[in-house]
Parts: sequence; structure tokens; C-alpha cells
Amino acid sequence: MLLTECRRSRVEIRTGCTVTSVAKDGTFRIETNQGILESKNLIIASGGLSFSKIGATDLGYRIARQFGLKIVETRPSLVGLVLDGKKYADLAGVSIDSVVSSGKESFRENILFTHRGLSGPAIIQISNYWQKSDPVLIDLLPETDVAEMLTANRHGRRTLANFLGELVPQRFADAFAANANKPLSELSNRDIDDIGALFNSWQAKFSETEGYDRAEVTLGGVSTAELSSKTMEAKRVPGLYFVGEVIDVTGWLGGYNFQWAWSSGFAVGNAI
Ligand SMILES: Cc1cc2nc3c(=O)[nH]c(=O)nc-3n(C[C@H](O)[C@H](O)[C@H](O)COP(=O)(O)OP(=O)(O)OC[C@H]3O[C@@H](n4cnc5c(N)ncnc54)[C@H](O)[C@@H]3O)c2cc1C
Repeated sequence: MLLTECRRSRVEIRTGCTVTSVAKDGTFRIETNQGILESKNLIIASGGLSFSKIGATDLGYRIARQFGLKIVETRPSLVGLVLDGKKYADLAGVSIDSVVSSGKESFRENILFTHRGLSGPAIIQISNYWQKSDPVLIDLLPETDVAEMLTANRHGRRTLANFLGELVPQRFADAFAANANKPLSELSNRDIDDIGALFNSWQAKFSETEGYDRAEVTLGGVSTAELSSKTMEAKRVPGLYFVGEVIDVTGWLGGYNFQWAWSSGFAVGNAI
């Protein structure tokens, strides 16, 4: 469908064509490994920095800087996070339905333990909001007040791990709870409060993301303040347009980033 539309509009497609630099002297002069191209308008659709092995480069940011446009600091996002301190590598592959929060944002989805930290949809979503200095709050049993439940079952001889194993994967209960082998009847009030806090509001601290080679998107980019919201043209550079991920617009998981790339492209297409 795309190729049919392109043929109809007499679009020339060049593959394996690397753009190395751009200059403007009235018209744009674009230097590529296939020679020099000239044009009245130039649309930058070079994407973000994620997955350099499939062609991501910083070209779009370099061009924006060259023309004096502001760039909001970039970082990998929609990505797994690396735990600061204890890594729980033995739990790699365990996934748990959780509520994950950072500031005012929260998502209810699965978290997934990895070799170095956490991933899974809830963590990937929260990575858009995560600030290095702040812990992420994780409720591992959203429908259960764990401290209340332990208090109500305190008389039994069952071990804590055995009890928790009915609520979360046993492997996780064994590794995560301190005092896992203690009978419920021997838990002190303090133990119960600590276990409740750990399961209902685990303050997970992360040191970094899993990086651009694992990130679905790049947070930050060309500042939206520099662009017309109708045409995507740079306010200070007539004829220069930016679309898609190179701009400081980042969506949730679920197709929003594709939608933004296509919608902003459509806006420019209508404008030129
Ligand atoms: C693994 C993965 C999964 C994803 N899943 C989803 C999803 O499910 N839903 C969703 O909405 N989004 C998803 N995304 C994000 C989505 O792919 C991007 O937001 C979207 O493709 C951005 O479109 P774009 O046109 O701006 O840039 P891109 O699609 O990245 O295209 C940029 C193009 O520019 C080319 N380029 C860069 N530098 C140069 C240069 N110097 N010379 C010539 N060409 C150059 C690149 O090779 C690339 O072909 C995913 C991304 C990844 C990496």
C-alpha cells in the first residue's frame, strides 16, 4: 500500500543511502554516500537512538543543533531497569501481576525479573517516568493487605514461605521474604509490618536502564517549543521540518509511538 501510494506521487526511494551532513544556503544541500541532493524543504524523520544495529543514528539531533534548535536531554525509555544493589538473578523469568508507581503515575501489569533487574510491561511503562533519584513503588499483591492477612493467620504452624506461596510464585516467596522458613506463629509484629511493607509497597531502587540496545524509544529530543504544532516546521528555520521520534514526544506502550510518527508525518505531508 505504501509503495503504491509512493508510485502515485512519483516518490523516488533510495535504500542504503546514508546522510552525512546538511547545509542551507537558500535551498538545502544534503550530502549522502550516493552524492549530493538539493531541495527546497527538508523533513527530518531519522528517529531516535534506540537499536543502532538496525540503523539508528544521532543525525536528527545533530541537524537540530546545527540550526540552533533546543534539544531536551535524551535517554533510553520503554525499557527494563537495572536494580541498584541486590539483583535477584535467581528469579529471572518470574513474572508477577503488580501495581507499579512513580510519582503520580501508576500501571497495573506484570513485572518480570531479569538477570540484572526488572522488566515486563509495568516496568517498561514506568520507565518513561522513572527518575534516577526516586525509588519505584511496587505493590506485588494489589488486592491483598499482606500485613492484615498474616495477622489473621498468625496462629498456624505453616511457614511464611508456604503461606506466601499460595499468593505469589513459590520461587519468589522463598527468595524474597526474610524469615521465609519461620512459622507464622513465631512472627513478631515488626516482622509482619516489614513483610507487609515489602509485598505491598516495595521501594525498588534502580541504578540505570538496560540501555539503547534494549529500549523501544528515546525519551527527549527536539523541543516541541521549536516547532509549529500544525506543520512541524522549525519556527526559526523555514523549510526544515521534524517528524516522529526525533522530537521530544514519547508515548506509552501500545502503538502510540507509531501513531505519533505517522500523524506528525501526515501533518507535514499536508503542509508542504
Ligand atoms: C524493538 C522495538 C519495538 C517497538 N515497538 C513499538 C510498538 O509496539 N508500538 C509503538 O508505537 N512503537 C514501537 N516502537 C517505537 C517505534 O518503532 C518508533 O517510535 C517509530 O518507528 C519512530 O518512527 P520514525 O519514523 O520517527 O523513526 P524510525 O522508524 O526509527 O526511522 C528512522 C530511519 O532513519 C534512518 N536513519 C537514521 N540515521 C540516518 C542517516 N544518518 N542516514 C540515513 N538514514 C538514517 C534509520 O535507519 C531509520 O530507517 C518500537 C521500537 C523498537 C526499537
